[in-house]
Amino acid sequence: MVLENIDAAYKQPKSEKIEDKIGNKELPIWDKMPEIVETLKNNNRLILVAETGSGKTTQVPQALWAEGFAEQGKIFVVENRVAVAVEIAKRVAEEMKVKIGQEVGYLTGPEKKSSRRAQIIFLTSGVFKNIIREDPKMEQASVVLFDEFDERYLLSDIGLALVEKAQDQGSMVKFGLMSATLNAQKFSEHFGGAPIVEAKGRPYPVESHYAADSISLYRMPEKSAELALSIHQSSSHGDILIFMPGKQEIKATIDEMLSRNITGATILPLYSELSPQERHRVFEKQPGRKIIVATNIAERGLTIDGIRYVIDSGLVRMNEYDPAADTTKLMTVPTAQDSLRQRQGRAGRTQPGECYFLITEDEFNHRPTTTKPEIMRTSLREVVLQIKAMGYSREEDSIRLIDSPDKKNWQIAKNQLRLLGALDPQNEAKLSEFGYKLSELSCDPREGTMLLRGCEMGCGQEMALIAAIRTSKRLLYRPQDEIEQADAAHKQFEISNLSDLLNLANTYEQAKRMNFDSRWCRKNYISWTALREVQQNYLQLLNQIKKLGYQINQDKATPEIICRAMATGFPDKIFENIGRGWYRNTTTGEEALLGRESCVSGDLIIANELITIQTRRGGELPLITLATKLEPTWLNN
Ligand code: ADP
Ligand code: MG
Repeated sequence: MVLENIDAAYKQPKSEKIEDKIGNKELPIWDKMPEIVETLKNNNRLILVAETGSGKTTQVPQALWAEGFAEQGKIFVVENRVAVAVEIAKRVAEEMKVKIGQEVGYLTGPEKKSSRRAQIIFLTSGVFKNIIREDPKMEQASVVLFDEFDERYLLSDIGLALVEKAQDQGSMVKFGLMSATLNAQKFSEHFGGAPIVEAKGRPYPVESHYAADSISLYRMPEKSAELALSIHQSSSHGDILIFMPGKQEIKATIDEMLSRNITGATILPLYSELSPQERHRVFEKQPGRKIIVATNIAERGLTIDGIRYVIDSGLVRMNEYDPAADTTKLMTVPTAQDSLRQRQGRAGRTQPGECYFLITEDEFNHRPTTTKPEIMRTSLREVVLQIKAMGYSREEDSIRLIDSPDKKNWQIAKNQLRLLGALDPQNEAKLSEFGYKLSELSCDPREGTMLLRGCEMGCGQEMALIAAIRTSKRLLYRPQDEIEQADAAHKQFEISNLSDLLNLANTYEQAKRMNFDSRWCRKNYISWTALREVQQNYLQLLNQIKKLGYQINQDKATPEIICRAMATGFPDKIFENIGRGWYRNTTTGEEALLGRESCVSGDLIIANELITIQTRRGGELPLITLATKLEPTWLNN
């Protein structure tokens, strides 16, 4: 009965009635909505800057829909986080009184709900990249909105450059950049004077407090637990959201609170490895006051109803790529001011709020204003491969990036692609046939190479699983205070001392046999979300290699063949044993320690994963975290 009514309303021609039915007109963004709509009707670009919580993400797509934009094609909203795409799509469907997955859908790697007739689609930048590759003129879309664009994730930078390219080539698609903290002038200039709409005003005021003295990372959990407790005792209502850099500090903070015998509150962790059900608990009613301890997953995008207090450590865990050593540093670093403002804005969305920064006001003022774009701190292998595969090149500026990394970094990426055989030897601006094949795969060119070579060597199926594991979140976790139990649990899945990746593949197979039972996963310290991600990526890769005409074979899949296939993706990552757990790269001479959790030993190994970690004393340590054994004779043929 209700459904019929909705359908009837939906089928009505564009009229004021529809506009009356959608959205929440109380939100400040509606004051500017006529200007936003007009601008996008008359221009093919828009830069929209409006406070956090003013209604950008939930309201603008609905307004464009009501104005008939969807008649020309889908309204895509590109999000940086799976959780945001999913939760916001649900919220918008609710506001439009439609069933999620019908008119309003979401498409992310691990979770999706959409249909052919969906008109507003929230999607991650990774999914968007695949869509625009299939449809470079964006014929199916009327508007692409890049949400929280100031975060400058690699794939949204690339996605936007490709939409601009589509426009240059005559496509009717329009784009909008949305953010609360964007340097609108800079982006407007980059896009040839693109019109800017600015909306002031946030739904409710937020009062800020700063720490009197600097607090070290080590003391953050204790300090924030104390503060949360004193708020809990002195105020009668309003939930609390605490930001910590990582899972480890989240756990420490929760332990600190529990050790103080807190009553009348439900304490919830929030980070990306939680299952969707576990994650969703923060949005549900809980007994007593909610105290949520989160990573920067909760920094943007989401409205958690009832948050009145924010406590911010001012820290974030971030990857920084070192092109020269081709390693990724995982570091805990101070957040930039744009992040601090976003976190503060998590309060004041549904009521007035307060934000406690655990940094001094002086520290706040000395932080950089914006977060470094990801393209400036990542490997460019995949970027170069994708740009070339679409027939563009960066060299002739046929694709315009907002910020372009150092020449050296591009050169290193190109060298690596050459080494893998992905470039056309006659003309390196182009890809080789093998390079084109690599670009069809949704994994790093290194893993792509070992997958395709593995198919030729008769172990395609195993390599697809291994490539999927490398493309997904980390499968195994080792909580700081349960390392021994975790290592013992993980030991059961070791079937070989040839390769850590073979053991991870076995872990996945065992979990599959258990039907991915979440209790079993927890008991064995295996991430349930990572498993689902591996499963999705595995299926996707199998489809892709089938489409490329490869046989998915496993007839010759001995451990030795698998190790040899693995070496094809890492020709420059072969290390020799120099004693005491240390290894030296046979090409570059750089040295690294083999992690204790690796099961591999031997004279010669492949470093499948090499990271730089921060030591307790503040130094840096290059660490091989995933390795595969090699016999010198395996390299010759
Ligand atoms: P913006 O993208 O500008 O930060 P959103 O469009 O996400 O803002 O949300 C705008 C406002 O809508 C929030 O400030 C809040 O008042 C309300 N809102 C959004 N999602 C929810 C939700 N799940 N529960 C309650 N209120 C919500
Ligand atoms: Mg938003």
